Amino acid sequence: MGHGHPEQPARLSAIFDRLIASGLEMIVRQIDAPLATRAQLERVHEPHYVQSVFDRAPTDGLVMLDPDTAMGPHTLAAALRSAGAVVHAVDLVMNREFQAVFCAVRPPGHHAERDRAMGFCFFNNVAVGAAHALAAHGLERVAIVDFDVHHGNGTEHIFETEPRVLFCSSFQHPFYPFTGHETDTPHIVNITLPAGSDGARFREEVERHWLHRLHEFQPQLVLISAGFDAHAEDDMSHVRLREPDYIWITRELKKVADQYAGGRIVSTLEGGYNLSALGRSAVAHIDALLGH
Ligand SMILES: [Zn+2]
Repeated sequence: MGHGHPEQPARLSAIFDRLIASGLEMIVRQIDAPLATRAQLERVHEPHYVQSVFDRAPTDGLVMLDPDTAMGPHTLAAALRSAGAVVHAVDLVMNREFQAVFCAVRPPGHHAERDRAMGFCFFNNVAVGAAHALAAHGLERVAIVDFDVHHGNGTEHIFETEPRVLFCSSFQHPFYPFTGHETDTPHIVNITLPAGSDGARFREEVERHWLHRLHEFQPQLVLISAGFDAHAEDDMSHVRLREPDYIWITRELKKVADQYAGGRIVSTLEGGYNLSALGRSAVAHIDALLGH
């Protein structure tokens, strides 16, 4: 997205380096992401918006789609693979080839609205995956849990009239994008965290607001918008989570998936901008997805 932008290629290298250092790289299977199709994107995005992303993709230089969100010559392909990764992951867990998949993708997706790019996001990867699970696999209950430090505004707006999706988002408040704190929709369960909140506060809120709803809902598939920018070492926010908190929430979500969804979990990377904290947290999350 340009020099000095926090949403940088080194984010994925940080995760892969840590995966190798942890020894987990020998255990997990790595699969290349296919491109999402237009039809898959248009389940959650307006066709005119999808067309405009294709039309505006530059052959060199940068084009700004939003004050924070720039497109370079390779952005369109990366964005199509990010969404395609989640679609393919849904197919893999639904076909029982894998129980859990982590999509190490960028650009992220959860701020992307039906008709616009926003906050480093072009296509709403997790929403494209959830819509695929409903349309192509006929699921009736899909849970999306978003623990990125920012509200998943795009995901919420896309599914606000879709009760087959239970959407749970936790976020620092007040904070960018300044949405979600007044949501009053039965299948959307938001948790607001004041600046300075630590892991104990996060866990207390999750236990109070999310867990019983997830167990009542009995999802057939659990999707995770896994952002790691709530980490104490991440300057992007003022929430103070640490690796044990990411392990804890992952284990709680895995319990839900094991109980109702045949263990099926697809997690996709959202934010996380301190490279060291991102690598450690994402790998701790992957380790917990593996049941360790
Ligand atoms: Zn974020």
